[in-house]
Amino acid sequence: MQVKHNLEEIREKVKLACEKADRSVEDITIIAVTKYVTIERAKEALEAGVTNLGENREEGLLAKREVLMDEPVWHFIGSLQTRKVKSIIDHVDYIHSLDRFSLAKEINKRAVKKIKCFVQVNVSQEESKHGIAVEDTIDFIKSLEVLPNIEIVGLMTMAPFTDEEELLRNCFRNLKKLQTEVQKLALSNAPCQELSMGMSNDYSIAIEEGATMIRIGTALVGSEK
Ligand SMILES: *Cc1c(COP(=O)(O)O)cnc(C)c1O
Repeated sequence: MQVKHNLEEIREKVKLACEKADRSVEDITIIAVTKYVTIERAKEALEAGVTNLGENREEGLLAKREVLMDEPVWHFIGSLQTRKVKSIIDHVDYIHSLDRFSLAKEINKRAVKKIKCFVQVNVSQEESKHGIAVEDTIDFIKSLEVLPNIEIVGLMTMAPFTDEEELLRNCFRNLKKLQTEVQKLALSNAPCQELSMGMSNDYSIAIEEGATMIRIGTALVGSEK
């Protein structure tokens, strides 16, 4: 596994997508999603120059965190059970999967400082996907104003599982549109400057449509231990 080589290739594609969309590469953060791979592979990613890691389970996060400490910026990207909040909260820098008030309340209660959260939005309306409906997102974000430890730094989505470019593009475009609406409200708890969207198969399109954080597993660190 040539993580370094993969990273170079991904950076090249990021650059191309940025050029196409007249954006700056500095605006894009690459999160290496290490949920499928070993601690060794995660280390390899850091040595290659990755600075952000993403995990989707408590076990994976805590195991890697124990070894890698706070060297990388840590992202929790998976659906989060309320009862797991307590054990992860001091070990993450960002939570990408806030999708219900009960979860926000628990994060708020357990946090000792403001926690940077993304609201996960189910743009593609697939039943299998987690996330809040587009039409409920603004009310949800407003409802969070009473929770001082929750900061909404952005919106996150998972695109439908498809090769159809137009479907993917539409999904990302709709999230961007929603972000603009949230930003217009100028809520003190929701600067909402980030867009977490784009994975191994669709990150170029996501960047063209406004992604600021892309979450890449398979194409960067592989998908087997
Ligand atoms: C696994 C996962 C990714 C990475 O997926 P790849 O297709 O392997 O790049 C990104 N985001 C979330 C939420 C994930 O669960």
